Amino acid sequence: MSDVMSLKGNVKGKLGLDVFKEGEEFHIEINPAKRDDPRLLACVRICPAGLYSLGEQGEIVLSTDGCLECGTCKILCGDEVLSWKYPQGATGVQFRFG
Ligand code: SF4
Repeated sequence: MSDVMSLKGNVKGKLGLDVFKEGEEFHIEINPAKRDDPRLLACVRICPAGLYSLGEQGEIVLSTDGCLECGTCKILCGDEVLSWKYPQGATGVQFRFG
């Protein structure tokens, strides 16, 4: 196994330690009018939790379950593409180190 693949396995294992509690509403939503914006495609590669993926029709699929609240997708896409806000209190990510 290459060093990169080994590192990727370690990251997935560490992400599995975190807990994410979904709130009553999604804290990140894609603007329907911007679904074909190329910045969303970049999110597939840059989201550290791997929450953006390509659907069967090539559309961008977002699952907010497991979001690290890092804001990377917000910075990349801007407010015109994504509606992004922190989850309500007592919801969202709980980091577990170790
Ligand atoms: S805030 Fe970070 S972890 Fe959450 S969806 Fe955006 S890039 Fe992924």
